[in-house]
Amino acid sequence: MNEGIIMESKYVKAICPGSFDPITNGHVDIIERASQLFPEVVVGVLQNPHKKPLFSIEDRVDLIKLAVLHLPNVSVCAFEGLLVDFARKINANLIVKGLRAISDFEIEFQMALNNKRLSPEIETMFMMTRNEYSFLSSSMIKELAQFGGSIQGLVPTEVEKAIHKKFCGMS
Ligand code: ADP
Repeated sequence: MNEGIIMESKYVKAICPGSFDPITNGHVDIIERASQLFPEVVVGVLQNPHKKPLFSIEDRVDLIKLAVLHLPNVSVCAFEGLLVDFARKINANLIVKGLRAISDFEIEFQMALNNKRLSPEIETMFMMTRNEYSFLSSSMIKELAQFGGSIQGLVPTEVEKAIHKKFCGMS
């Protein structure tokens, strides 16, 4: 890795935003890859008052913290409101997002253009999902778990335990 280039980059702090209800191995992969590219990565966990998530904001943050324990330059923080406002508040100028199928593209494109309009100084970067996670989403995990399907290998171990506890009342 050429550290010289990274030190000179103006992108020092990157945000990986999302709902993470719950975090999956697809998210972890994007966060890990971002943590290798940028000195500091903040996982921004969106608290949307209009949505009823399966996991509370506190639980989502805690589960992400456990999933990124091996990444010393990654921190986790909840936020409300506009992503660009949160970015400015924590002094980050780069948004890193994962892209799965073409279906992700349209909405991500819209969000990136809107964020650029609101805050031209903030850049958005996309990373392609790894092949094995291209079909993976938090909603698919919840659906699988709810109907007794295996989610092993698709989410961090702590998430697997937490989700089983939710649906089956067991740890
Ligand atoms: P989801 O779409 O699963 O509910 P989020 O809203 O938490 O997830 O998504 C946060 C970011 O993570 C988005 O940029 C989304 O495209 C990305 N992402 C979600 N799942 C994956 C995956 N399996 N591989 C790569 N990126 C992903």
